[in-house]
Amino acid sequence: MIQSAQIPPAIERENFLPYALPMIGEEEIEEVVDSLRSGWITTGPKVKRFEGAICDYVGTKHAIAVSACTTGLHMALAALDIGPGDEVIVPTMTFCATANVVVHLGATPILVDVYDDGNIDIQSAKASISSKTKVIMPVHYAGQACNLEEIYQLARDHNLAVVEDAAHAIGNHYRGHKIGSDSLDELAKGLPRITVFSFYATKNMTTGEGGMITTDNDELASRMRILSLHGMSRDAWKRYTSAGSWYYEVVEAGYKSNMTDIQAGLGLHQLKRLDGFVETRQKYAAFYDAEFAKIPEVSTPPVHQDRDHIYHLYVLRLDLEKLTIDRGQFIEELKEQKIGTSVHFIPVHIHPYYRDNLGYSRDACANAASIYDSMLSLPLYPKMEQQDLIDVVNAVKHIVAKYRR
Ligand SMILES: *Cc1c(COP(=O)(O)O)cnc(C)c1O
Repeated sequence: MIQSAQIPPAIERENFLPYALPMIGEEEIEEVVDSLRSGWITTGPKVKRFEGAICDYVGTKHAIAVSACTTGLHMALAALDIGPGDEVIVPTMTFCATANVVVHLGATPILVDVYDDGNIDIQSAKASISSKTKVIMPVHYAGQACNLEEIYQLARDHNLAVVEDAAHAIGNHYRGHKIGSDSLDELAKGLPRITVFSFYATKNMTTGEGGMITTDNDELASRMRILSLHGMSRDAWKRYTSAGSWYYEVVEAGYKSNMTDIQAGLGLHQLKRLDGFVETRQKYAAFYDAEFAKIPEVSTPPVHQDRDHIYHLYVLRLDLEKLTIDRGQFIEELKEQKIGTSVHFIPVHIHPYYRDNLGYSRDACANAASIYDSMLSLPLYPKMEQQDLIDVVNAVKHIVAKYRR
């Protein structure tokens, strides 16, 4: 008990601090109400406007609004004709959706390892390429851009299409180019290239549920748009306007993945505030970085000089050898101090479906498995206040001091 004097006290908060919360303003609320009053509650003029705004913001020729990033990734692979017998390279450190959509099309996801920063390990990707490999799906993990140079080099060497899972990366840059921008085509040199963003409730900007596909490829864009609305011929949504006609043709057995005007109304206003959100996240992350750098039992997210990090997630790593508790207990201790956390992600290859059906051992992606054991995502979002950040830091300090080995 002599030591206890050195342990800073547990923090005392009145309210639980969730790990993520959206920032919805009055403008968003009014825009949604306007949709409800107007009668345009499904895909309509606001979706068109939102797509146009994304084209301008990202710098791309085509933007296709969809019901989720998941359905966008699905449309991307479907438009690339991915099906039975094909293999798609997916980093294991991602949300299950990235791999699930490959399975939905009858193809096989090949799960590969990641670097310490959580982004796809190019050697692991290279080693898994076979004559069946058609696509590589890098994930800009936590909001830090992947090393696109080496990814597109690999894609060019093996003639692969690239579908970037940019669920965490709207508003981020790679070497000065916005993620999803057509200006990154110089890396692709003519290879099919598609980017998909997520506007899920916890993401850097939200439409509740929603996603956006970008590409500069006319043919793929047209096909994804048709596939996302039952396979009906172009601009089928116009059939309910004076400009439209009752007649349409189904040219493919498509899907139902369109976005609604209610979602797009949210998105139009969230997009205007996105750069401000990102700035706040980066400022908060810098505060965490400075504070956690003083604690030898934890390490801060790795960053790279040539890339931006927009901190969709702030992933703290625990040095388990210096602590007497594991990550799960660490999370429980934070919860006791009313701090919410999450884990991003349980590597896909560890989930029973993938482990049992595709035969992955835990060590098949050893780095991801080891990162998984030691990581947790701390609360980081624009709605947090200075005191919330201080509470998180002090809660971590308390636990580390209490369970220092
Ligand atoms: C959130 C997320 C998705 C899925 O996004 P939805 O919009 O919820 O479908 C896909 N990939 C990653 C990496 C994600 O974090």
